[in-house]
This record gives sequence, C-alpha cells and structure tokens, in this order.
Amino acid sequence: MLDIRVENLRKEFGSVVAVDDLTITFPAGSTTCLLGPSGCGKTTLMRMIAGLETPTRGEVYFGDRCVTKLSTRARNIGMVFQYPVVYRGSNVRENIELPLRAEKLSKAEIDRRIDEVVDLLEMRHAVDASIEELDNGTRQKVAVARAVARRPQIILFDEPITNVDISSKLQLKRALKELVTRLKQTILYVTHDQTEAMTLADQIALMKDGRIVQYAPPRELYDRPNDVFGGWFLGNPGMNFIENFVNGSQQGAFTSPLFARPLRLDGRAAGPLTLGVRPEHVRVYPAPRSDAVPARVLSRAIVVGGQQLVALQVADFVLKAKVAADVGRTLTQEAWVHVPLERVTLFGADGHKPGVALQHAVDESLHPTP
Ligand code: ATP
Repeated sequence: MLDIRVENLRKEFGSVVAVDDLTITFPAGSTTCLLGPSGCGKTTLMRMIAGLETPTRGEVYFGDRCVTKLSTRARNIGMVFQYPVVYRGSNVRENIELPLRAEKLSKAEIDRRIDEVVDLLEMRHAVDASIEELDNGTRQKVAVARAVARRPQIILFDEPITNVDISSKLQLKRALKELVTRLKQTILYVTHDQTEAMTLADQIALMKDGRIVQYAPPRELYDRPNDVFGGWFLGNPGMNFIENFVNGSQQGAFTSPLFARPLRLDGRAAGPLTLGVRPEHVRVYPAPRSDAVPARVLSRAIVVGGQQLVALQVADFVLKAKVAADVGRTLTQEAWVHVPLERVTLFGADGHKPGVALQHAVDESLHPTP
C-alpha cells in the first residue's frame, strides 16, 4: 500500500490559481473524497497526481517515491473518468481482459481477476454482453472493473457517477461503496456531491479556492466543521448562522433569546462570534417547556424523507429547523425551540473555529449571592 503525498503543490492557469500551495498526505489504503463546489480545484489536483497536468511548482510522492516528473503511464495508477472509457466492438470480459493481457499475466490469473471484479461489481450476468448492449451505468462498471483488475496501488476516480443515467446511479453508487470497502488500495475520489462523499469516504478533503479547508472523517466534518464554509456547504440546507451572537471577550454569564438558560463562554477570543447550528439539530415543540424559548412559525415545507423544514422567528433571529413529519403536523403558529449546546459550533470573525465553547452558566453567576 502507498500513501499519496503532495508538497507545496500549486497550479496556475494564467491569473487563476487552481491549486494553492497544497501540502497533505492521503493515507495508504484509505478512500479520500475530494469534495467542493465547481471550480475549487478538485480535478486539477487529481490531474496533477495522475500526471495529466504539470504543476506550476511543488511535488507529488507515492510512498517515498517522487513521481512529479514521471509520465502517467509510469505512475502505474488506475483511473476512472466521468465518461466510461471502454472498447466498443468487444464484450465485457474482453474489455477487462485486455489490460491484463498487456501485463503478460497467465490465463489462470487473468480468469481469477476477472471473476473477482465481476463478482465485486455484481455484473456476472453481463460478462458476455457486448458493450453496445449496456446502459451507461453498466459501462461505467466495466471501466471500473478494468481499472481495478490490474490491482494498481493507487486508484483515482473523477466524478464517475455524474454522467450516469438516473436509473443506474443508485446501483453504481452501491457497487462503488462495496468496492471501496473491500479494496486495499489508496483511493482518491473527486465529487461535488456531498451525499456521495459522505457514503464513500473514509476521509473527506473539503476544498475551497484551491485549498483544503478541512480533512476529516465524514461525520466529524459534518458535526464539527472547523470553518463556516463546511457548515454552509454540507447539509441540505446548511447550518443556521447567527452573526454577532456574542463578543469573544465576554466575561461571566450572559443571556440570549435563543436559550432558556444563561450562558457563558469557555475561553476567550478576539471579536464577535457567530453561532452555527444545523437545522436537524434544532428541536421544536408544540407546547411550552422549561428548556425551550417561544418562537413563531413563519413557514413550513416538506423535504426529502417526509421531514418538514420549518422557518422560525425567535426574537430577532430566523432559524431553520428540520423536524420529523409527525412533529411538523402538530405545530401551529406558535412553537417552542431548544438549541442543544452540544450541537452548537462557534466561529470567529475570520470564519474559523476560535477555540471557544458555549456553556450553560450556573444561574448563581448571574445573580451572585452575598
Ligand atoms: P468542476 O467540479 O467544475 O470540475 P473543480 O473543482 O474540479 O470544478 P477545476 O476544474 O480543477 O475545479 O478548476 C479550478 C480552476 O481552474 C477553475 O477556475 C477553472 O476554471 C480553472 N481551470 C481548470 N482547468 C483549466 C485550464 N485547462 N485552463 C484554464 N483554466 C483552467
């Protein structure tokens, strides 16, 4: 197994900086999804790792070996692109076989490897079918099988699901999940689709403007974004942000109309802090509770999975909350809202986590007793 390491890797296209002095290691045997909006540099980073794009400066290493100056072929990697690269005029077996024959493997070994990948990708029924007969989802599986059967130590996927028909997408995604779980290779997978990244990745590298904003397991990235961008980009919709929630120099207890109990800051930071909380973490109740504050229901919409997305006015703030359908049905114009402190993330004026946490104050600190 090989890790992939890039050091001060940079790519400029004229005045555009596509990849901005990136240094990171993608661990051996892990699946990393490069995730981010269009134009953030995912494909350029992957193409430099593949040897398809020459860096403006910086180095690429596979294990201890510097490959920056090696051709794509000499890097000996597997690649799967947006559009399936398959040989027309031949069947599935022949497509997978061809690169294996080029490696001069024995017939028995070739058969063994074909058997393994067709089972892994659940396409045994199609091995004798000609490429022309297949839908483009199955063609993409053939392209994946060809890349994997060679057993390269590194496999790169560039948005392999994007151009597959809707009807085949789910099946291909399931097959890829099975594949990346079973493979021992180091996998880099480019996608702009957060659900795909959350499903497939051991680690997500969240990219913005040619940089990696956060590199973390999917759940950690979702629950604990270390930057406003992660809170905004992930989730559907993204986090609620309450700007100027409190000043980072606040000492002692303070109150907020969003919380039923007084709060305090654990730590100090310069400047105003923004409070972030995901809509699915905001709790909404149809009746008063001691741990909840009153709110007015502004709107309701049904979203994926039958949940309701509820917009709530709490004092001067508007909060989005995602609630189960049965909870949504019980709501009238009045509601009560509880924001769990353990689900809150604070961000500093620079958009990053300030190293300060929000806590409940012991009530006595607001009303000190003599
Ligand atoms: P997408 O998901 O849209 O492919 P991406 O995150 O993969 O986006 P890149 O394709 O790497 O982003 O592009 C990063 C930036 O570099 C963009 O501003 C893009 O316009 C620019 N760029 C990429 N390739 C070239 C090129 N060959 N010539 C000029 N500019 C380029």
